[in-house]
Amino acid sequence: SKNQPKYKRIVLKLSGEALGDRTAGDTISGEILQRIALEIKKVHDLGVQICLVVGGGNIFRGKLGAASSQKVDRTTGDFMGMMATMINGLALMDCLEKNGVPVRVQSALHIEEVAEPFILRRAIRHLEKGRVVIFVAGTGNPYFSTDTTAALRASEIGADVIMKATKVDGIYDADPVKNSGAKKFDQITFIDALKNQYAVMDSTAFSLCLDNEMPIIVFDMNESDSIRRAVMGETIGTLVC
Ligand code: UDP
Repeated sequence: SKNQPKYKRIVLKLSGEALGDRTAGDTISGEILQRIALEIKKVHDLGVQICLVVGGGNIFRGKLGAASSQKVDRTTGDFMGMMATMINGLALMDCLEKNGVPVRVQSALHIEEVAEPFILRRAIRHLEKGRVVIFVAGTGNPYFSTDTTAALRASEIGADVIMKATKVDGIYDADPVKNSGAKKFDQITFIDALKNQYAVMDSTAFSLCLDNEMPIIVFDMNESDSIRRAVMGETIGTLVC
């Protein structure tokens, strides 16, 4: 029916940057957290099972600052990045709980006092009980991204779709900032996205989605009500499938 959500189990990928407010100088913005929590709550109230995969780019992204002449080893930097995702995950947990949404955090790296370990069957049980599950620490492996984590977890839990929140409102045939005539796609196939090298996700993440036929919706998180509308099957952002 038209009033039933199209997607019953979703993975929402939030970049770390989406939680910060650069102009205010906030690594994690309370106002932004609250806004995101309310958007998630709305979808939770519809009975949709929700997993969050959160990035860490607002805190650390594998490298020291651009102005730094010092370098940190790739694997060390990646673990720093994974730990950054834990910090963001806890912030989201706290805010969701304060809005009455039950949450469990599962980590790909062991940090028992803070988060449960990632256990697939337990994650599914949480979803069935109406808890939002936040996956932190990425895949637990260096050389991967949180987009890849979203693709992996979505495949593992049998999600209907990955919703990737970005700064742009979808996929265009050219850079919409540089090219005023750029055309936005409502829908595009994996093969066309690949052929035209549209940057939907990094190549590892993208090929996981392609191989496992996991649809991706790329949408603008700042557009109010976008998650709910997308879940209801409205045309929001760009659907890659
Ligand atoms: N990371 C990693 N393995 C993973 C996921 C993340 O090593 O499975 C590290 C990597 O250094 C990455 C950082 O954590 O740059 C933060 O994740 P990401 O860049 O995906 O965050 P986002 O851009 O979404 O904020």
